[in-house]
Amino acid sequence: MKMAKTYSIAIDGPAGAGKSTIAKILAKELELIYVDTGALYRTIGYYVTRQGVDTADTEAVAAALSGLTVELKYVDGVQRVFANGEDVSDLIRTPAISMAASAVSAIPAVREFLLGIQKDMVKKGGVVMDGRDIGTVIMPDADAKLFLVASPAARAKRRYLELCAK
Ligand code: C5P
Repeated sequence: MKMAKTYSIAIDGPAGAGKSTIAKILAKELELIYVDTGALYRTIGYYVTRQGVDTADTEAVAAALSGLTVELKYVDGVQRVFANGEDVSDLIRTPAISMAASAVSAIPAVREFLLGIQKDMVKKGGVVMDGRDIGTVIMPDADAKLFLVASPAARAKRRYLELCAK
């Protein structure tokens, strides 16, 4: 089945339910662009940590954002994320940065900061996005909204296998 390039799909659900796995399959099958929004939060977690900012310090994290530009780009067909022009795609995939991303994602200023970037991608159309507020805030008018569920055991196993693979 092939979709028009303007079709948009939002995927939500808890961590480890398989959101990004399904999103990537859908993007491939339907010829849509998969936007890895988690990578954006991870980039902020990485950036503020590297600046020596405590991710629990809401005000310091918010202040640090003024010196940051985050971009998602395709390099040789692969999505890469850049912080102030530096490709941080591989650096953000550590357990420590997962924790930092989770902490900063709870800060309203961070969500606000990433809103524009994500909305711009939606405007271009033809996207599959997954994450906490995708179907409500980022793509309220998505053509399809999926909410994935899985048992805690299955979710834990998925994360465990992902970490082992790395
Ligand atoms: O999906 P991933 O594990 O890369 O996401 C990293 C963190 O970013 C998540 O744990 C979550 O706290 C946050 N996130 C979010 N909203 C999104 C995507 C990710 O809050 N749309």
